[in-house]
Amino acid sequence: MPVGEPSRPYVVCPVCGHGFRAAYASSYVTVGREADLCPKIPGRPSDGARLIRSAVTMCPMCSFAAGEAFDDLDLTFDERYGIEERLREDGLLKVFRKGQPPWLGFHAAEVCGKERNLKSRELGDLCLRASWVCRKEKERPFESTFQLRAMRHFMRSLQEDDLIGRELSVTTYLVGELNRRLGNHREALNWYVNAGRTTEGDPRVAWLDRLIDRQSKLAREQAA
Ligand SMILES: [Zn+2]
Repeated sequence: MPVGEPSRPYVVCPVCGHGFRAAYASSYVTVGREADLCPKIPGRPSDGARLIRSAVTMCPMCSFAAGEAFDDLDLTFDERYGIEERLREDGLLKVFRKGQPPWLGFHAAEVCGKERNLKSRELGDLCLRASWVCRKEKERPFESTFQLRAMRHFMRSLQEDDLIGRELSVTTYLVGELNRRLGNHREALNWYVNAGRTTEGDPRVAWLDRLIDRQSKLAREQAA
């Protein structure tokens, strides 16, 4: 199978029992990352967006979505009930379920993830990926919406998730970078400083120190 060609295993939705062919991504080639860690993927942006999207699977029947393989999920009765309720009540799903915009799977995975008590770091990651898809698909207002949601999850994660090491540094940095992208340049600068403190010159995250330097300069220029 060529690299980047998704496999399409048959999966069963753990919420409604509907069976369908999912599109799991195989590995794909990247040529570096943007400053918010969005992978640069050769080819058309919409092809890149498709590959990023295949990180989540969404049931076409009930909209249950998750980043994990459906086979690996073992939901309790209460979780299933809670998820059904949330999916039914969710405002964005009500409006966009028919149109299936490219970010919908990530949004649904976030809705379901809250009921499954995913960590804030993971919820933030779903929203960050949604913002990448929006950028590649030129859905500008939704890009900002998901950046804001990712930022809030990451800030909560810094308070609640006991992050350490690389994950702590990267999460702190991302709060800065998302602030910068949302136009809060001074806020961004504060978070870059915080992120720099967490790396403590660790050579394994030298790439992040370089990124913090570069993005701080940018934010200072933008704040001026
Ligand atoms: Zn389903």
